[in-house]
Amino acid sequence: MFKIGCHLSSSKGFLAMGKQAKGIGANTFQCFTRNPRGSAVKALDLDDISAYIEFAESNGLQPLLAHAPYTMNPCSAKDETREFALIVMKDDLSRLAHIPGSMYNLHPGGHGGQGTEVGIEMIANALNQVLVPNQTTTVLLETMVGRGSEIGGNFAELQSIIEKVSLNEHLGVCLDTCHVHAAGYDIVDDLDAVLEEFDQVVGLSRLKAIHLNDSMNDLGSGKDRHEKIGKGHIGIEAIARIINHPQLRDLSFYLETPNEIDGYQQEIALLSKRRT
Ligand code: FE
Ligand code: FE
Ligand code: ZN
Repeated sequence: MFKIGCHLSSSKGFLAMGKQAKGIGANTFQCFTRNPRGSAVKALDLDDISAYIEFAESNGLQPLLAHAPYTMNPCSAKDETREFALIVMKDDLSRLAHIPGSMYNLHPGGHGGQGTEVGIEMIANALNQVLVPNQTTTVLLETMVGRGSEIGGNFAELQSIIEKVSLNEHLGVCLDTCHVHAAGYDIVDDLDAVLEEFDQVVGLSRLKAIHLNDSMNDLGSGKDRHEKIGKGHIGIEAIARIINHPQLRDLSFYLETPNEIDGYQQEIALLSKRRT
């Protein structure tokens, strides 16, 4: 089955997002856990969550992907920013515990001049404090462009974090096609080699989700600018190879393209047509 969805606004709750996803031909979705640029969070609505779970089961929706706020930085040079990241992660995970099988995607963070090694150590340290043995949410580290002091611009950095986390059976990776392309991984002309490298460095069994985005800029641009599917430098043919690749096709794909809801609906229809 082609597991395809897009990023949805969480303002109306989980059941509303589930219905919206279904309405545009998606069978999964991504949403922010809270205000993406701050920390404001709505009260936990368990009635909405149980209604969503029932709707998801009866409509065949796949596990949802929750995205942590951008501002969360577990490897900040500032103590209070790191402490705040811990609070947010713990709270997000305790909320997601009500949605079994969900995934929680986070940007590893920016070390702010402390150096990559220190940053990796701090991220692993944070994960070691928030992961618990029986959790049902898988935490995903997103592949990043690697601008400035941003951690996660190459596969080895993600693997270094994973290795330092004791309960790393709860860790996985979300590969963002725009980000890896901007970071210099040639998913257009050499997808097999990129996946081979991922397998050797991290292990393909860690790969749990794909952020499916085209890119406004060329390979290795270092710029994080998502483009609509087929309108950018990755292009529809390379994207079709990605969604059909034997090592990727069973994963869930999430659009984070610059679209309103009708644009997402069109992209899902286009991609469904290209699915073999
Ligand atoms: Fe992201
Ligand atoms: Fe992404
Ligand atoms: Zn991005």
